[in-house]
Amino acid sequence: MSTTPDLESLGRHGDIVIVGGGLAGLFCALKLAPRPVTVITAAPLGEGASTAWAQGGIAAAVGEGDTAESHAADTIAVGAGIVDEAVALGLAREAAPRIHDLLAYGVPFDRDLEGRLAVAREAAHSARRIVHVRGDMAGQAIITALTQAVRATPSIRVLEGWSAEALLTDGGAVCGLQLRKVGAPSAPVLIATSAVVLATGGIGHLYAVTTNPAEASGQGLAIAARAGALIADPEFVQFHPTAIMVGRDPAPLATEALRGEGATLINGAGERFMPALHPLAELAPRDIVARGVFAEVAAGRGAFLDATQALGPKFAHEFPTVYQSCISAGIDPAKQPIPIAPAAHYHMGGIAVDRHGRSSLAGLWAAGEVSSTGAHGANRLASNSLLEAVVYAARIAEDIASRDLAPSSGRVDPAEHARNGAFDSAEEQSLRMLMSAKVGVIRDRAGLSEAVRTLAELERDAASPALANSAAAALLVATAALARTESRGAHYRADYPDENPAQAKRTLTTLAEARDRAAALMRDSAVILPFPTQPQTALV
Ligand SMILES: Cc1cc2nc3c(=O)[nH]c(=O)nc-3n(C[C@H](O)[C@H](O)[C@H](O)COP(=O)(O)OP(=O)(O)OC[C@H]3O[C@@H](n4cnc5c(N)ncnc54)[C@H](O)[C@@H]3O)c2cc1C
Repeated sequence: MSTTPDLESLGRHGDIVIVGGGLAGLFCALKLAPRPVTVITAAPLGEGASTAWAQGGIAAAVGEGDTAESHAADTIAVGAGIVDEAVALGLAREAAPRIHDLLAYGVPFDRDLEGRLAVAREAAHSARRIVHVRGDMAGQAIITALTQAVRATPSIRVLEGWSAEALLTDGGAVCGLQLRKVGAPSAPVLIATSAVVLATGGIGHLYAVTTNPAEASGQGLAIAARAGALIADPEFVQFHPTAIMVGRDPAPLATEALRGEGATLINGAGERFMPALHPLAELAPRDIVARGVFAEVAAGRGAFLDATQALGPKFAHEFPTVYQSCISAGIDPAKQPIPIAPAAHYHMGGIAVDRHGRSSLAGLWAAGEVSSTGAHGANRLASNSLLEAVVYAARIAEDIASRDLAPSSGRVDPAEHARNGAFDSAEEQSLRMLMSAKVGVIRDRAGLSEAVRTLAELERDAASPALANSAAAALLVATAALARTESRGAHYRADYPDENPAQAKRTLTTLAEARDRAAALMRDSAVILPFPTQPQTALV
């Protein structure tokens, strides 16, 4: 064991370290003030965070006649049988006070003529309950207001352009973080801390087609898993059915409201394919539409969103953001169908946390999309993710503030974190293609087995810590998807198309278990992986 060499250069004695500058990270830092906090973000504040791109808003039962119980019931119904009901109710009940906190930090939520918060309706919500900003600008407005509030808070120090690549532990407790400057090749830097909050967002960028920023590549999930933290429900990835395929990465979204206005889904032969798949056709639930689109693309027929009849010349005025995305790629959506594909959009799984946001590792908390609280089950209800981020960030701040944190031991074993090679973008691209093709919208045993074998080798052999982390996160998703021999919510197995009531429970797993499962598969390709049986109460 050796004392970390760079402790003095970046570490500030006694600081709580928050990794991530999206809603979860910034809100937690503000709530912890005046306790000294260091926020580390891979991208400059306001960039590289899904929060900034949220178009809908935050679900909160603040409208007339709406109740937290009704909001929780909708959340439970969408989650396909495995939502933790107490968690869903707690989330719904804390929505109103957190919205008021955001107002106090300067988020200009829209109001009606009488000055009350304006609430919009979204799919699968039984009431109007989405608070929003200037129509579809909620994410941008939230990140702008919180960034200003953070910059004006002297107890918060922000380190921008640093990526966390390993969590350091001593005797099972967090004692520091390994960081690396983003951009030019550089040596890693270690900082000491006994309290880390991971708020690093999702995993969409592990897929070739995604709506998420490049920073959402599962680094936070992987570094927690590598340090031994329990991971929950990694197999549940939500795909948005209509990402616009115009060669942009990440792919811009064609909002669901277009289908609400009558736009249809057609294949390359001009045939509508949804009426044969669901009575609601284009307005079927999101996962069913995503599968319909995926099947057309996979069969080589292509998939398109056709708004030429439904909107035509009104398109530019009514959907200016989508219109601009298309026009800039040479497609006029008023006159031509828009090429689309399903895109990885949201991760229901993540670092398993209890109701205080505590992970299974002493000194590690997780908030926002990187965590798994049990609120979403197998499918997320629209606009519940920003709510979950803000509710758990506040709970974590309260939990940490109530403690007398022991200083970090400052001791790490450098041998454990010796991987130091250059990042290979071609290997990353192969991983992303593999995930989209084999661990995507429609999965089966053969494809998942192939993915598990490839990812296990990459996780073991990758020279760069970032790529090894991406492979670890992807391996967790693929092994859990292989073990869940049923279809539930966003997880669809072509070889097990029905729900199996015996599997109506959350997955709790570890990276060690994922590696063991991969090794068993490599030894014997016919092995059947058992459904994970760890108790769900491991954290409470
Ligand atoms: C296009 C789009 C629209 C959406 N619309 C909605 C909506 O209307 N309502 C809703 O509720 N949800 C919506 N979502 C989902 C929601 O935006 C996210 O789930 C939520 O913003 C996640 O917040 P977060 O703070 O956990 O992560 P993020 O906002 O993604 O922030 C993660 C932060 O961590 C940093 N980071 C990542 N890895 C590292 C690392 N290794 N080291 C240092 N820093 C790191 C990133 O740079 C970033 O600052 C949408 C998502 C997308 C992509």
